[in-house]
Amino acid sequence: MNIQPQYALENTFGLPSKAQWGGAIEQISDVHEALDFVQTNNLKLTCLGAGSNVILQPQLAGLVCSIRITGVVVLEETDEFVLVEVGAGASWHEFVLESLSRSWFGLENLALIPGLVGAGPVQNIGAYGVELSQFVVAVNVVDGEGAERQVAHKDCQFAYRSSVFKAQPDWIIVSVVLRLSKLPLIEISYPDLENALKDLAAPSPEDVAQGVIGLRSGKLPNPAEFANAGSFFKNPIVNGEQSIEMQAQGFKAFAHGEVFKLSAAQLIDRAGWKGIRRGDVGCWPQQPLVIVNYGGASCSDILSFAEDVAHGVKEQYQIQLELEPSVLS
Ligand SMILES: Cc1cc2nc3c(=O)[nH]c(=O)nc-3n(C[C@H](O)[C@H](O)[C@H](O)COP(=O)(O)OP(=O)(O)OC[C@H]3O[C@@H](n4cnc5c(N)ncnc54)[C@H](O)[C@@H]3O)c2cc1C
Repeated sequence: MNIQPQYALENTFGLPSKAQWGGAIEQISDVHEALDFVQTNNLKLTCLGAGSNVILQPQLAGLVCSIRITGVVVLEETDEFVLVEVGAGASWHEFVLESLSRSWFGLENLALIPGLVGAGPVQNIGAYGVELSQFVVAVNVVDGEGAERQVAHKDCQFAYRSSVFKAQPDWIIVSVVLRLSKLPLIEISYPDLENALKDLAAPSPEDVAQGVIGLRSGKLPNPAEFANAGSFFKNPIVNGEQSIEMQAQGFKAFAHGEVFKLSAAQLIDRAGWKGIRRGDVGCWPQQPLVIVNYGGASCSDILSFAEDVAHGVKEQYQIQLELEPSVLS
């Protein structure tokens, strides 16, 4: 592993940021080299994928490792399912397309989510009525002591945009084991998706993926043109009583197990922030949940704008918004 000082960090928010030390991890032996380096120099270690769900301070302390271990290995295959191990550094969207081309189904609704496979379990990526946790059998990690361990699904503590990996920042995810179906699994109950596919009598998994790609491309800013980190806030979770109160005020509430999810986008919109821009930071006009860096915004410009948005929502609706991306320093 080539560890360099003042290592420039890639991120979709367009924030200039450097790590004290950094390098790419391309194989398991690099992980052990990185751990030796931080132990010898008494530094902290941070993992980074494609930087699409992080807000980076200008300078990150310690060693930042860009995870680039790739590869797709079939562990088991029957007529009904395939068990596949995917390297943490593989592109998520490319793996979704590869799985479709190999007739492995289930991930269509998660098409076009930016980032790498290894970050998927960290926040349990989800979209259009599907979460990654539905397919995860186990996650292979190297822990802070250098021990290689397999974390079984039941120990991943998956929840809405959360998992055990958020609480274990010194675990390096090296691969993810997924169980995908060999029979089409069509999930189109999400209203926008159902509407996009309403003219098809029996949509195929490819139709679902194309539907999702079309919806996402129409609504979300492409980070290559308008730097952003996707949803800036999580959808707030409320209990049954609060959901009835909010619905009486015209808000949408979606059942999520025994609780309800409100739409953070709708709250931000109703609080008057949709399309609002201050300097180079703003709420995206087509999807106010996305905060955009229009050019030269700094990390503190973005965080202070986000704080004002959250404050506006709290003041009007007594709902506290929580950040979705991780702030790394
Ligand atoms: C336009 C846009 C749309 C998006 N849409 C969605 C969406 O629909 N649904 C959704 O859930 N997310 C969405 N996101 C957020 C983001 O794409 C996902 O969270 C993605 O999984 C992040 O991947 P990454 O490789 O960029 O992770 P990074 O941003 O690099 O890292 C995210 C976190 O995971 C940790 N991490 C990364 N890799 C590892 C590893 N190998 N081991 C241990 N920890 C690791 C990092 O330390 C960091 O805390 C969107 C983002 C953008 C920019």
